[in-house]
Amino acid sequence: MQGNLNVQTENIFPVIKKFLYSDHEIFLRELISNAVDATQKLKALSSRGEFKGELGDLTIEVRIDKKKLIISDRGIGMTEEEIDKYINQIAFSGANDFLDKYKDVQENLIGHFGLGFYSAFMVADKVEIETKSWKDAPAMHWSCDGSPSFEMTEGKRKERGTDIILHIADDCNEFLEEQQILQLLKKYCRFMPVPIRFGEESQWVDSETEFEEVGEGENKTKRPKRVEKKVPRIVNDTDPAWKKAPSTLTDEDYKKFYHELYPMNFEDPLFQIHLNVDYPFNLTGILYFPKVRKTIDPNRNKIQLYCNQVFVTDSVEGVVPEYLMLLHGVLDSPDIPLNVSRSYLQSDSNVKKIAQHISKKVADKLEEMSKTKCEKQAKEGESDAADKSQTFNSQLEEKWDDIKIFVEYGMLTEEKFCERAMKFALLKNTKGQYFKLDDYRDKIKALQTDKDKNVIYLYATDVDEQHAYIAKAKEKGYDVLLMDSVLNSHYINLLEQKIEKTRFVRVDADTVEKLIAHDDAIPEKLTKEEQDKLRPIIENEVDKARFTVQLESMESDDQPMVITQNEFMRRYKEMSQTSGGGMGFYGEMPDSYNLVVNINHPLIGQVLNEQDADKQKQLVHQLTDLALLSNGLLKGEALTQFIKRSVEMI
Ligand code: ADP
Repeated sequence: MQGNLNVQTENIFPVIKKFLYSDHEIFLRELISNAVDATQKLKALSSRGEFKGELGDLTIEVRIDKKKLIISDRGIGMTEEEIDKYINQIAFSGANDFLDKYKDVQENLIGHFGLGFYSAFMVADKVEIETKSWKDAPAMHWSCDGSPSFEMTEGKRKERGTDIILHIADDCNEFLEEQQILQLLKKYCRFMPVPIRFGEESQWVDSETEFEEVGEGENKTKRPKRVEKKVPRIVNDTDPAWKKAPSTLTDEDYKKFYHELYPMNFEDPLFQIHLNVDYPFNLTGILYFPKVRKTIDPNRNKIQLYCNQVFVTDSVEGVVPEYLMLLHGVLDSPDIPLNVSRSYLQSDSNVKKIAQHISKKVADKLEEMSKTKCEKQAKEGESDAADKSQTFNSQLEEKWDDIKIFVEYGMLTEEKFCERAMKFALLKNTKGQYFKLDDYRDKIKALQTDKDKNVIYLYATDVDEQHAYIAKAKEKGYDVLLMDSVLNSHYINLLEQKIEKTRFVRVDADTVEKLIAHDDAIPEKLTKEEQDKLRPIIENEVDKARFTVQLESMESDDQPMVITQNEFMRRYKEMSQTSGGGMGFYGEMPDSYNLVVNINHPLIGQVLNEQDADKQKQLVHQLTDLALLSNGLLKGEALTQFIKRSVEMI
């Protein structure tokens, strides 16, 4: 039989070839998916008792034979009528208009118009089908050279199943290379549910016929020689972990699967979430929380999206909430429209629901971890936490340092997640203890409420650099948080909005008395006139562009001079640096500090009363340098000068 394909556009094939698919390589995925479907259908018929014969070995085989690439399955096959219906009369109704409209858009439209099989013409200039149906019907042979006419005759296939034979076009010779095909099979077919064989691979086994001698003298024995044996190479894992029931998997199984998924990543994930929904949409998958490193490469170990175990893509924007994009793992859903543009994807209601579901599951998991006591306390040397004696009460505490970035980012970008996270998010103090937000407030309320009834959360961003300030605050009985994430300034702003009557103040934002303003002022030891006289003496010795001199009445045993940096200015500067634009004005401002002078300190009195101008200068220098030193700001030449001067003074 000869005929014309029921395609309304004469030149459909050039269109397929040039415009429809941006990725030629997906033809292999399409053809193997068809083979898998045909095999699954046969299994279903068999289990329903409609097919009574032997299933036999159902392995799909991919073969390169000179200029041909052949895909063979032992599935249901096709009768003459079926070829006519499913292959010849491709459902192109309405496709013309669509193609016209989208001709210049390189979009991926497989599936939409049943073009799966025809994607073969992207790489082949002739395609043949040899098929024999499971039903009692003659074998068929079909062939088409890319024009809308085809040939169909009785075929010679003896066994049930289908061979798709591609005569690869001259400009597509790469699809005749073993390594190229192997790589594509590994990419698209790695977890397909029917075994796929491609060539052979070596295995080292004990020989049954050859032996070798080992050992010396009396210990000499014979053992079988290790020999290389060629075995069929099966490219896929037909039963990947995400398809199994979570209750049947151990933590080790999850880790094993993680390394199967990312063979080049040697680090274990922190924990995982197994997704398994079938209503109102179908979604399975495993999401892994990795340890986030400073030098993270978002293009490695990306989340992979599958549709019934067929790999689709590893760009999951829109399907996975943005703050979870750095997670690893797989998602599998037949309900994600795969062949549409990104913008369409994001407006699709199923996709939205899936993203929300993922977010909710992540919140559930984190909440559960915050309620679950952790099994083992951190072993010495194992954790990189500063405080070795650190103990954890919950699983979330144990993992917090590694995952807080996800939580903070999620809280900043997803309203709903934020609401949930307010209940489990943790704060860590400089002693390495963790607190839930509510608990922390209760802990510090008594001592750290200021005269306006604001609760002041003190924090440090660097324990070493801000050591002197932290020590001062602790002397007062205050607690100091460690807030050292990259999102800090944004996150702190968020918490100030979410928790009423709350202010966050970095320990070096002011002198310890003023960090938390109480009503009781300390009496001043210098008169107004003396202060007016003192100010220029100090101002003359400091860089006025960087430092503002501020006279304060502090405890006489406090430091004579302290450097502070205004919380508001510093935080806005940091925020504009991490959000790139928008607040540029702040970002470009130079760092400015306050040089706070404790007018009650005896040494400041001494400065004022010093008659020798040189000595007075020297004293001021020494005191400012000490303040700078304790803030980590004294560097280079200034530091050398300071040391020299100190030695001279001693
Ligand atoms: P789709 O797979 O989206 O239905 P295709 O163009 O890929 O579209 O295939 C059309 C139809 O041809 C399939 O639905 C199936 O009925 C039939 N078919 C394709 N390949 C095979 C095969 N290897 N074995 C049996 N039937 C097949």
